[in-house]
Amino acid sequence: MPSQAYLHVEGVSKQFGNGDDAVAAIKNVSFDLEEGRFLSILGPSGCGKSTLFNIIAGLLKPDEGTVTLRGQSMIMNPGMTGYMLQKDLLLPWRSIADNITLSQTLRGVSRRKALQNARPDAAACGLESMLRRRPDELSGGQRQRAALVRTLQTGKPLLLLDEPFGALDAITRLHLQELLTDICMQKNKTVLFVTHDVDEALLLSDEILIMGVQPGRIIRHYHLPQPKPRTVESLAIPELIAIKGEILHLLDEEVKRHGEPA
Ligand code: ADP
Ligand code: MG
Repeated sequence: MPSQAYLHVEGVSKQFGNGDDAVAAIKNVSFDLEEGRFLSILGPSGCGKSTLFNIIAGLLKPDEGTVTLRGQSMIMNPGMTGYMLQKDLLLPWRSIADNITLSQTLRGVSRRKALQNARPDAAACGLESMLRRRPDELSGGQRQRAALVRTLQTGKPLLLLDEPFGALDAITRLHLQELLTDICMQKNKTVLFVTHDVDEALLLSDEILIMGVQPGRIIRHYHLPQPKPRTVESLAIPELIAIKGEILHLLDEEVKRHGEPA
């Protein structure tokens, strides 16, 4: 029986290497996510967050387990998600306009039509005056906004964002966090979001998964109480402060159990 959940992840395991060198990157990972929800994943380095994303993106085959979107298998089925990484991966020789329209032009949409389609997202992200520039002419925050627009322009309803704001300064980050919340709520995107920042997870998410390391596995799944959009001030409510304390404690225990990652 296929699961009723929008995104259904069940019993997913992946090991790298064999014998003494074997690493259980993730073991028996299961969770469900409903459409339009924003789920953050927090865990120590090496707990398998990127491995899990690569599996959900259809780029890496798990040893065991099921991943479905509306009942359709995502295993080795790339193209069902929009995937964005910390490094913006913009093509340096193409203009911002040609970068953000890449997924459309690859599908055969004309450059002109593709840019017409992309303009509202580019405008929402404050990039209208940057469209003719090349990536090295933009600031780090502007490049991440361009990468976000490119990810949105894939038109995929499920977005995988792997530490997209990790390299940005605090103010730029806050701005992009607000932008992401607005866009995802407006477009009813479903988002999986990796971060190392507990406050960022509390600000953006409907749900938070905490992962442990060796083997990479889920140790807690939170459904956050306060409705979104949240502001920095709204993080001061007692329920969220209590959850933050618990999360920091869980992460601290994991790091103590396994030592600082190399
Ligand atoms: P995270 O993104 O949480 O930091 P990763 O998913 O990148 O963790 O890695 C999980 C574990 O799997 C780590 O121990 C890492 O060294 C190992 N690993 C990841 N990818 C490979 C690979 N292609 N070959 C061998 N080991 C890998
Ligand atoms: Mg990673």
